Amino acid sequence: MSTTPYQMEPFTDFTLKDNQVKYEEGLKLVKSYLGRTYPLIINGEKVFSETIMDSLNPSNHKEVVGSIHQASVNETEKAITSALKAFESWKKVDPFIRADVLFKAAAIIRKRKFEFSALLTIEAGKPWSEADADVAEAIDFLEYYGRQMRSMTRVDDVILSRRNIERNEYRYIPLGVGAIITPWNFPLAILVGMSSAAIVSGNAIVLKPASTTQVIAYKFVEVLEEAGCPKGVINFIPGSGSEIGDYMVNHPKIRFISFTGSKGVGIRIYEQAAKVQPGQLWLKRVIAEMGGKDAIIVDESADLDLAADAIVRSAFGFSGQKCSACSRAIIVESVYDEVVAKMHAIVKTLKVGSPQDLDTFVGPVNDHNAFKKIKSYIELGYSEGKLLFGGQSDDSTGYFIEPTIFVDVSKEARLMQEEIFGPVLAVCKVKDFEEALDVANNTEYGLTGAIISRNRAHIERAREEFHVGNLYINRKCTGAIVGYQPFGGFNMSGTDSKAGGPEYLLLHMQGKTISEAY
Ligand code: NAP
Repeated sequence: MSTTPYQMEPFTDFTLKDNQVKYEEGLKLVKSYLGRTYPLIINGEKVFSETIMDSLNPSNHKEVVGSIHQASVNETEKAITSALKAFESWKKVDPFIRADVLFKAAAIIRKRKFEFSALLTIEAGKPWSEADADVAEAIDFLEYYGRQMRSMTRVDDVILSRRNIERNEYRYIPLGVGAIITPWNFPLAILVGMSSAAIVSGNAIVLKPASTTQVIAYKFVEVLEEAGCPKGVINFIPGSGSEIGDYMVNHPKIRFISFTGSKGVGIRIYEQAAKVQPGQLWLKRVIAEMGGKDAIIVDESADLDLAADAIVRSAFGFSGQKCSACSRAIIVESVYDEVVAKMHAIVKTLKVGSPQDLDTFVGPVNDHNAFKKIKSYIELGYSEGKLLFGGQSDDSTGYFIEPTIFVDVSKEARLMQEEIFGPVLAVCKVKDFEEALDVANNTEYGLTGAIISRNRAHIERAREEFHVGNLYINRKCTGAIVGYQPFGGFNMSGTDSKAGGPEYLLLHMQGKTISEAY
């Protein structure tokens, strides 16, 4: 199947004064509506439930970004019923029209780009360039999946009648009602990608965003409505994962679950979805994108400045809260001290502080729970390695943690095995490239990885043997772009799907073969 080439949404150049002014205006606009109350949206209607939750600014936890009504099991059931009804008509809508809803949504977000970025800065703690990249990725998903849906409607051209006694036809049809469960770390891009792929394929959805980033999720649902998405096709049910998550996943009328989040929750969903409930007519499909413990290998032939820069940027961009973030640097002993010294020199220059300041590199971490968890790993780091830099934290106003590097960490240490999801990097010394590759593959995950090397033989071996879904050569291991680097991991990093790749929409559909005899 072919797709129309699409040029990615450009990143904003913040060295230009004009763009700086626009971002400041975006911040001003978002501040003008802080503290508003947001409803659930079920069947196109605003629903005000009994429970309300505040979304807080992680850089200033006294500031309420918005108060959001929360779905209970009761509202979740209504949302599923609404989606079931909407599915019956939406599945028959011309795929070109469904794609058009995505293109219109992309245009609306593009027009309000600085507002959306500013909201990500305030609600998710993303520094300017990280927030800008999140919004650009959301636009890319809409454009890419819209184009892909259009190209897939020509699937019939691929399978032709080859016999004069019959007419053979092959077409994709949607699955049904999907539960979309999204994470907070790309609260716009990933949510938009997961929701739009499901919808453009002809499904109807119930969307449960992560609890800490519900305002930006609501804004996207509004955009989809403005873009012409019919009532009931997307139902917005913010609520606690532990309260309504199981109900959604176990529901017999849910046909598929699309989840992005941690390994623990992903496994639970996978197990629960496998159990056939009374009245259930299908085996549920689960698309799960989970955690990572991503590594960068540096060998003796590497450009050491490039290596240090790639490691530090991958480890501390958005405070290490990317599933693709480098949390292990694996460096061969002959260049180890030099790379560590170079990393030290760079990390010292990173500004920690409010993401509303243009020059901040490391903003806050997500919330109090993330703060506590990351701090406990820093405590552990003192016994598993030697502190090179950082280690300090302060939650008096916001949840700030210094970029932290532990060196001389052994390959079996918990710091080298467990996903921390914060600004903590473990550095491991190995004898040679052979051992580096072993250590890199020595976790239960397999999401991203990078090798920094000038040795062609090493690069080719990494191509074959570095077992990750996204392998990068001589660059950082974060920053996948929709349509350029389809994204998703192996092993316990998920169900091997690739967001922003050519097969992703197919996960939301099933193929139907029709053969008519003459
Ligand atoms: P999380 O705690 O697993 O939460 C993800 C979503 O699942 C949230 O909406 C959460 O709701 C919900 N949830 C929690 N318990 C649930 C349950 N019992 N049933 C159903 N849903 C439930 O993950 P996170 O902290 O938001 O995100 C960080 C994780 O996501 C990291 O592990 C990261 O590596 C991974 N991630 C992976 C990718 C990828 O592409 N592979 C991309 C981004 C992030 P609440 O917020 O209400 O708890």
